[in-house]
Amino acid sequence: MSQTRAIAVIGAGMCGLTCAHALAEAGLPVRVFEKSRGIGGRMATRRAEGLAFDHGAQFMTARGAPFAEWLDGAVARGEAADWTPRGLPAGQRRIVGVPKMTAPLRHLADGLEVSLNAGVAAVVPEDDGLRLALADGTRTGIFARVVCTAPAPQAARLLAADAALADALARVAIAPCWTLMVAFDTAPGLPDAAEEPGEGIAFLAQSGTRPGRPDAPAWVMHATPEWSAAHLELDPDAARERMLELLGTLAPLPRPAFAATHRWRHARTTAPLGRPCAASADGRMLAGGDWTLDARIEAAFDSGKALAQAVVGGI
Ligand SMILES: Cc1cc2nc3c(=O)[nH]c(=O)nc-3n(C[C@H](O)[C@H](O)[C@H](O)COP(=O)(O)OP(=O)(O)OC[C@H]3O[C@@H](n4cnc5c(N)ncnc54)[C@H](O)[C@@H]3O)c2cc1C
Repeated sequence: MSQTRAIAVIGAGMCGLTCAHALAEAGLPVRVFEKSRGIGGRMATRRAEGLAFDHGAQFMTARGAPFAEWLDGAVARGEAADWTPRGLPAGQRRIVGVPKMTAPLRHLADGLEVSLNAGVAAVVPEDDGLRLALADGTRTGIFARVVCTAPAPQAARLLAADAALADALARVAIAPCWTLMVAFDTAPGLPDAAEEPGEGIAFLAQSGTRPGRPDAPAWVMHATPEWSAAHLELDPDAARERMLELLGTLAPLPRPAFAATHRWRHARTTAPLGRPCAASADGRMLAGGDWTLDARIEAAFDSGKALAQAVVGGI
């Protein structure tokens, strides 16, 4: 058996970074593999034409004390701030990363070894540990544990070496979301923010109302899960036109100065796992993410903590 204590974490979203940060604090050697060119996962901000669009998660909310404390720290460090737009129900604190959604995650990533553009194709169990087969055809060295924080359907494929684990993950359901990012030269009569303001629209937010973003007439619109599922395979241009039609049902729209779409194939959990993490029979492969518990960033945070605890307790 290998004597390595090294841990691989797949995914640099809230869950993966929370887990990796806690493992590093516990003194374990940890390396994060992220397929994208940046950290954050579904906490994302796209910059275009001098504008900033938070096209994934809109805000963070805390129901439990651990995440509330973590958010307080991020606000105190200036990495996050309250967002208080007109149009959303009162009674809930909504916090956004400043100047972009990933800002508070940088704190977690500091000092970690994070490999970007490093997609994992499979986790390969061997006698002395686990190896990662990377999408570029190379293989990593040996790890004692692999923690996968990709969305459950993707994690099920990566962890197929344990059939029972893969089956459990495959039962998790995550709905898609088409997102429209649109800016105008002159502001149309759209709300600053709204939940379900019209047919097919789940959420609408004016980017300029968010702390630290350029003050411009720019909106992010999320289509409903139903609309997104029904139009999942549209090409981006067709999706943009259809989503502009949806937005146009709320107010007459001038010609957009900028419009683009993003398709989140796995956006919001609809059937969670029901516990904060899952593991293979031998305990060497673990999986987690928001989808274990809920459809929110706090669930990803809680899952990341639980994953780290499971690794530290089992190694
Ligand atoms: C449109 C939309 C709106 C949302 N709004 C809100 C909201 O307002 N409030 C809220 O609390 N939550 C919201 N959410 C949910 C929130 O974004 C998630 O709960 C949270 O970001 C999930 O974090 P995570 O780390 O579990 O997963 P992710 O953020 O998905 O991170 C997983 C990471 O794994 C990486 N990865 C995947 N496969 C591989 C691979 N094979 N190899 C290497 N890396 C891989 C991905 O690139 C990604 O970076 C929203 C989500 C979407 C899409």
